[in-house]
Amino acid sequence: MNIILFGAPGVGKGTQAAILAERLGVPHISTGAIFRSAVAAGKPLGLEAKRYMDDGLLVPDELTTRIALDALDEPACANGFILDGYPRNIGQAEALAAALTAKGTSVGKVIYLTAPLDELVERMLKRGRVDDTEDVIRTRFEVYDAETSPVLNYFRAIDHVTEINGVGDVDEVHERIVAALNGSVQVDNA
Ligand code: ADP
Repeated sequence: MNIILFGAPGVGKGTQAAILAERLGVPHISTGAIFRSAVAAGKPLGLEAKRYMDDGLLVPDELTTRIALDALDEPACANGFILDGYPRNIGQAEALAAALTAKGTSVGKVIYLTAPLDELVERMLKRGRVDDTEDVIRTRFEVYDAETSPVLNYFRAIDHVTEINGVGDVDEVHERIVAALNGSVQVDNA
């Protein structure tokens, strides 16, 4: 099963994607994490991406879609994957859908994680990543509202979107996601 974790910055997509990927035994693909590791390794991809990330802007689609689709091309993704942080605009959503269709698969289940804005900001300030300063956070929410949130309606039109309350401790939110997926994927309830 292909699963997309969708939601605003700071909602916990990365945390939940990692736990879920481990439980389901499928790869976790995060475009943000790929960019951050390229930055840390001083790779050209990182230098290019950093120019946008530091300002809270989207890395251009050409670059982002290439790294996302390359990751999905890995044989390990053949039996499913958890995608987090991609797609982040309609162009990316269309590129993803086309690539999956070409492979004979599709966007599977979209988990839409939610939390109130003040909670999101508090979490991000606490996390304190380089792009978690007040100004950059403000820009990231503007970009989310303008470019990323329309992707939800795109998914609603073609796929099943399940909204999950992202407020609570990590395990609690994880169990909500598992409960929502039960019936559509085999989840080990150990
Ligand atoms: P968060 O989930 O807190 O928003 P991410 O780790 O997903 O953080 O992303 C961090 C940054 O990486 C984004 O602000 C953006 O600059 C870049 N990025 C990640 N995914 C994408 C994407 N799909 N398209 C464009 N830029 C992206």
